[in-house]
Amino acid sequence: MIGRVMTKEPTKVACKLTVRGLVQGVGFRPFVYRLATQTFLTGSINNNNHGVEIRVEGLSANIDTFINNLKTKAPTQSHIESIYIEKQALHGFSYFKIINSTTLSDEITQISPDIAVCNNCLADRKTQAHRHNYAFINCTNCGPRYSIITSIPYDRENTTMQTFQMCATCQSEFSTIDDRRYHAQPIACNQCGPHYQLISPGLKTTNYEEILSSITQLLKQGEIIAIKGLGGFHLVCDALNKTAVQQLRKKKKRHDKPFAVMFSDSNMVTQYARCSQHEKKLLESWRRPIVILKSTQSFSIEITKGMETIGAFLPYMPLHHDLFSRFHSPLVFTSGNLSNEPICIDNTQAQHKLAPVTSHFVWHNRPIQNRVDDSVAMVVNHKTRLIRRARGYCPEPIHTQYNTDGILASGAEMTNTFAIGKGNQAIQSQYIGDLQDYETHQFYQETIQCLGKLFNFKPQIIAHDLHPDYLSTHLAEKATLPTDGIQHHHAHIAACMAEHLLDEKVIGVAFDGTGYGTDGHSWGSEFMLADLAGFQRITHFDYFGLPGGNAVIKKPWRIAISLLYKYYGTAFLQMNLPFLKAIPEHQITLIVRALSKSINTPLSCSAGRVFDAVAAMTQMCLNTTFQAQAPMLLESAVNPHIHTAYPITNLRPISLQGIIDGVIKDIHRNEPVTNISARFHNSIIQIIIKQAKRIRNHHNINKVVLSGGCFQNAYILSKLEKLLAKEDFQVYTHSVVPANDSCIALGQMVIAAKRRTLCV
Ligand code: ZN
Ligand code: ZN
Ligand code: FE
Repeated sequence: MIGRVMTKEPTKVACKLTVRGLVQGVGFRPFVYRLATQTFLTGSINNNNHGVEIRVEGLSANIDTFINNLKTKAPTQSHIESIYIEKQALHGFSYFKIINSTTLSDEITQISPDIAVCNNCLADRKTQAHRHNYAFINCTNCGPRYSIITSIPYDRENTTMQTFQMCATCQSEFSTIDDRRYHAQPIACNQCGPHYQLISPGLKTTNYEEILSSITQLLKQGEIIAIKGLGGFHLVCDALNKTAVQQLRKKKKRHDKPFAVMFSDSNMVTQYARCSQHEKKLLESWRRPIVILKSTQSFSIEITKGMETIGAFLPYMPLHHDLFSRFHSPLVFTSGNLSNEPICIDNTQAQHKLAPVTSHFVWHNRPIQNRVDDSVAMVVNHKTRLIRRARGYCPEPIHTQYNTDGILASGAEMTNTFAIGKGNQAIQSQYIGDLQDYETHQFYQETIQCLGKLFNFKPQIIAHDLHPDYLSTHLAEKATLPTDGIQHHHAHIAACMAEHLLDEKVIGVAFDGTGYGTDGHSWGSEFMLADLAGFQRITHFDYFGLPGGNAVIKKPWRIAISLLYKYYGTAFLQMNLPFLKAIPEHQITLIVRALSKSINTPLSCSAGRVFDAVAAMTQMCLNTTFQAQAPMLLESAVNPHIHTAYPITNLRPISLQGIIDGVIKDIHRNEPVTNISARFHNSIIQIIIKQAKRIRNHHNINKVVLSGGCFQNAYILSKLEKLLAKEDFQVYTHSVVPANDSCIALGQMVIAAKRRTLCV
């Protein structure tokens, strides 16, 4: 709500402005101070639990200018949601002052995500004697935020910097209003702040120059180094050294998943990958996510593992910049963990956990309070799409159209995030991971506690998935609070609707790997009519068996056999399909027997599993070691010049026979995998368009909402979005939260909030 002050007399007036949004920890108070003094206003500003409160006195025209500048010139990292203006009686301030923070109520305050080190700070390291090459330099516009906060309001004593006593110089900068570090809570210098330490066999040092030259030398020798960062440890090695990367894979037990690579700057990125203006901007933004780019120059297969893309990101801490001033080529920067566990944040724990990977550790003594992984994003159809939402994004809230107070949305199971509701906002946790992993589950529980404390949140209702075996469902069952069970794919569609503040009947298309259906089967190719209150399932793929249940996720060949058996019975064994030759005969017999007798063969209609089957049939991927590996490889293989698709017959439920027939014919014709992959992808796109048109004709609804992990497939998303728009649909896709199961919590949140309004 924005009011205006309309006083014509040249006499002084006074007013109070309550500014809400992301206005703490982003240099907002000093910015307001400068604005106020420039426009000859007196008064005060303070952080409180609402945001900031500003009192100004002066000429009416000057106050107008002040308000206008406030809206247009605020620091880039800040985000003003609303300014509420009240007229007040004159208080008689003689100057403008910044008042220390107060605790007011349990209303929301936004907490800034961590911000990459800014260029001014990088320059200061060259000119300021007390910060010469200082590795933890920061200012009111940059540095650690969420990763170090222990409590609100965001003041030094509520961060892990509280143990570092400011030196006289830092103290004076901190209290000098015109200084770039005025009230920069993590302010520090060489004398008084945190520092790095290198622990390596035969060498232990805190001398920063020595650390940097040792790291460089070790990297050149092909060694792996564990380096503590902003939100956790990284494992680092020379990206162009094949043996080093191989070693890292073996020791980290990460056999196939591509590694993220850090480059010195976007110029270096363009030597290895295609990078649009939008992608460059995203790479260089203060959020500094890993951006998935099409690679032009092949890295060793050890890095890309058959994908045509590379996860690239740029330095965001001073140490990263320093490394690249000595080491002039790309570095693997992968999370400091073993396979699926959460990344290490504690020095001792890292030394113990990462011992099988490396004996070289570079850590610092600024504790990480909140673990935050690097975020991952891509750009499709000129929009940023998040794949993993963590560092640089969390805990920025997402606005919702309903009151979410007291709702805890526990999320799904894989790629879990959860969300807490405050006011009209969903505060989504950072990426948590796969809850089946014991330590990830602990991280989940700790983060629920931690966000609850930070935002003074007390759960009144728990919204959860319907899957009886999800640990996020168990959380709801164990609590003595009212619960709201929400179907997985309904939550997907609702999450995307929430991003666009939609609440009306839409055509929801949820394509993903798995989700518990109301009929007890595993869903994942859902066409539904949905609003936030409920949904009606219209159609889906024909059910097929998953021989061995969950185990099929790692064995795409079993799904291929299941689909072949479904449409041809045992006749498929005589079809001379090459992929079958790679599988021991007794295993094939076992799977066929399980299918014929329906032993441990739950039913599924998951689109993700169909991608798995085609990847197996084309011999791209028979077994997997990480989630979505088969669809990712299949997508990488698409020949973009092929525009044909396989025929689709039945639509209710949608038969996959045409696709399987087509794939077999192409295999027999020795068609290249790239063409088969393209036709398969085009068929999926065609099915969605056909269904959407059919539903529109029946129900007169023109809005299509797409959600689910399959829409992380850039080929499908990019083509489908354009083709649906061409058919005059209004298309809604994800941008703020990932399309994968990391969005489930947001969907659960808005559905529970909506349903609560209906109960009142
Ligand atoms: Zn800075
Ligand atoms: Zn200092
Ligand atoms: Fe899902």
